[in-house]
Amino acid sequence: MTSTRTAGQPSVPTAPNGPVGVALLGATGSIGTSALRVLERQPERFVPVALTANGNIAALTEQVARFAPAYVGLVQECADAPDAWGRGPGCLVEAATHPDAQVVINAVVGAAGLPATLAALRLGKRVALANKESLVVAGEIVTRTAREHGGALVPVDSEHSAILQCLAGRQPHEVKRLILTASGGPFRTWPADKIGHATRADALKHPTWQMGSKITIDSATLANKALEVIEAHHLFGVAYDRIEVVVHPQSIIHSFVEFVDGSVLAQMGVPSMELPILYALTWPERVPDNGVPSFEPVAHGALTFEPVRHDDFPMLGLGISAGRAGGAAPAVFNAANEVAVAQFLDGRLSFGGIAERVSAALCDLSALPGYSLDALLAADAAARAHVLSRTATES
Ligand code: NAD
Ligand code: MG
Repeated sequence: MTSTRTAGQPSVPTAPNGPVGVALLGATGSIGTSALRVLERQPERFVPVALTANGNIAALTEQVARFAPAYVGLVQECADAPDAWGRGPGCLVEAATHPDAQVVINAVVGAAGLPATLAALRLGKRVALANKESLVVAGEIVTRTAREHGGALVPVDSEHSAILQCLAGRQPHEVKRLILTASGGPFRTWPADKIGHATRADALKHPTWQMGSKITIDSATLANKALEVIEAHHLFGVAYDRIEVVVHPQSIIHSFVEFVDGSVLAQMGVPSMELPILYALTWPERVPDNGVPSFEPVAHGALTFEPVRHDDFPMLGLGISAGRAGGAAPAVFNAANEVAVAQFLDGRLSFGGIAERVSAALCDLSALPGYSLDALLAADAAARAHVLSRTATES
């Protein structure tokens, strides 16, 4: 991507030979479909050249008819998939490394997104990263790969996009503290003794965001905020002692940065992922877009803040401790959480059981080595097996 500047006109990213090719991994999901709406509004700047999905062949087929990408990949086996499509988990890396794609939007859920993040960064591409799990599992390897190969890792997560926007033009030594906002999820005001027995339907009712089911459950347990603290640590190189979380139920302020002179900047806007998706594509520039309703301060009314109820939402503390411990601990936290959330969604584990399973996996496995990608993937596999065997034994 190059930058053109014409006197008196806003500077906008353009490619010399037409729009920039974008590979979209996880195209059929919540972020994936939002990303396609953003790309459709910006046809002069961006064009989808590769699309992948896990198993939703009907939705993917519709997208292929609409966008005619050069590459299509489906992870799950499906007899109806056209022969020309890429198949199996390897299709994520094929899409991410496709020669027509200069930018990769990684909107896959879970650690399954990690190999594609690394493959795109090794080729020096820009990765617009929604898949926070990539950074949680292997944050040091991912950020080092971006540095060594000249790739750009730009967050799609709204909190991290907010921080990136607040940090524009600032130096690391000017930053005192990052403060991530959290909506508090559907159980923010529930009494402690009710939370552990919350049903799947209760947990899937997020107050401010419409998202995929895994991140919606993570928002209810506050595991999502733990993943985001770890993500912020790696993206911005800020120590855990200087990253805090505050509950902000309206989800209008997407995060704050406090500077060494005491000044605090916040980035705000109506809750829509289309804004951070677009910014991840055009960063460090801004381009005109009309996808989000304009912000009306009076209509939004009061913005309020509350402390986190750490005792009632143990996943936040467990995840931050895993981040501080480093090594394989964040990979264990993430993998155990992925399996426990899947079991909760399948009705095999209670809501309170998620934190129990993750805590037990961390107790037994967080000291596993984490010095290489293979070691981290082995820890991920061990944590998955740990949770699976506990739940199998109990049922
Ligand atoms: P989702 O479940 O709606 O969509 C996930 C997408 O990934 C789908 O296209 C699915 O087909 C694909 N997928 C699922 N499992 C896969 C696998 N094993 N291999 C390959 N592809 C697979 O999820 P989402 O809400 O869009 O979230 C995607 C990512 O973005 C997650 O990491 C999430 O934490 C992050 N994120 C989401 C939001 C949001 O508003 N939805 C906000 C911030 C960050
Ligand atoms: Mg977020």
